[in-house]
Amino acid sequence: MQCLECGETIYQLDNGHLLNCSSLTLQEYAIRHHLPLDMILHSDQINLPDHVDNYSRPVARPTEAARQTLLGLRWSGLLQERDAFVEVPGEVRRLDLLLWALDYLSDYGFQFHQDYEYRADSHRVVAKNRLRVPLRNLVNEWATPEPPPAFLGALAVYMAHVAEWHAGYLFMAFSRPIYAESVREQLARDFNIQCQQLKLSDSSDELLLRTQTLADGIKLLDLLKSRLIAIPTAWERFKAETPQASVTKELVFDSAHFITDHPAKCSNLHGGRYVLQVEVTGRIDPVTGCVVDYGYLKQVVNQLIIERFDHHHLNYAAEELAWRSSTEMLCVYIWEQLIDYLPGLSGIRLYETTNSWCDYQGRTLAEQQAAGSDPVLHPFKNLPAQAANRKRLLNKFGQSTVAACQVN
Ligand SMILES: [Zn+2]
Repeated sequence: MQCLECGETIYQLDNGHLLNCSSLTLQEYAIRHHLPLDMILHSDQINLPDHVDNYSRPVARPTEAARQTLLGLRWSGLLQERDAFVEVPGEVRRLDLLLWALDYLSDYGFQFHQDYEYRADSHRVVAKNRLRVPLRNLVNEWATPEPPPAFLGALAVYMAHVAEWHAGYLFMAFSRPIYAESVREQLARDFNIQCQQLKLSDSSDELLLRTQTLADGIKLLDLLKSRLIAIPTAWERFKAETPQASVTKELVFDSAHFITDHPAKCSNLHGGRYVLQVEVTGRIDPVTGCVVDYGYLKQVVNQLIIERFDHHHLNYAAEELAWRSSTEMLCVYIWEQLIDYLPGLSGIRLYETTNSWCDYQGRTLAEQQAAGSDPVLHPFKNLPAQAANRKRLLNKFGQSTVAACQVN
């Protein structure tokens, strides 16, 4: 076959040849020339086994930078135990980030692999980039590392791998609540940067931190800027100028409700299927190719809205809706629930029937933080302003229960 990079005719294309002629891996070559991997690979390059004997034990104590890298990856949940190994997966677009980490993690004996695996479920050969090390090489770091690696170094590694930037806020998902809590505490104590904890699911351990205000997000990026610029594919994720796009997720819920004082049938208890469309606008992350992950969008709307409303009575599912569960009030309520998790929220549309719907654009997260929940949702929150007058009039002319008792 002919190498499409250098034109040379070779028996079998492999990473050895490609590295010399173009610095590419086979997976990148396949994408660059839009060829399926199956067309390039020979069967003896697929499903290769690995063995711990292929790895040496670390000879010296890993450097501080290596320990920071390992800790940052631990926070991110990217260190995964598999059989006798620990692996760090890396997407093809982040190959240089994976190799950057390898430069430090080689202290522990990590090696880079681009594995080609035939996946029966996807009917094709897929490539997986991984750093891999025998579990035995990490036992000394696996318990509580002493002394703890420097915080900011580990945080930069963590951020480079998993943090996301949405509408001026940093989102950081942690594999365990204890890591999230420790990062939140240290940022508040040592750098006066506040983060809010967001819970994504009752069943999973995963915990999400979001910088509290716009100022906190800027402060955190400034704090780590020089470190992130030095890490491949890190800084561009937060700051590169890329096109804006809007993405929408549609979910449905079946609910009952009534409209208090409605002059027609809507004052009766009735049910229906609501269709909710949630739109988020933002810049396309150049490394993920997405504005926001549809899976995250669905998880947030499910957790905060669908779980609450589906197969429930809207007037009693939220105190804000007790008086008026109209589509308009529902939209204001839904917006306020979602904005903490989706600060790029740009519009919601709620269908009550196929030909009746409401469109709504609410306030930004910063505006909501400054002003609190919209008063339109809380007409019964305060006691009547006319209390004294009300008492006078009703005592004088009303049919009070006290009067009724006295009559009887
Ligand atoms: Zn070549």
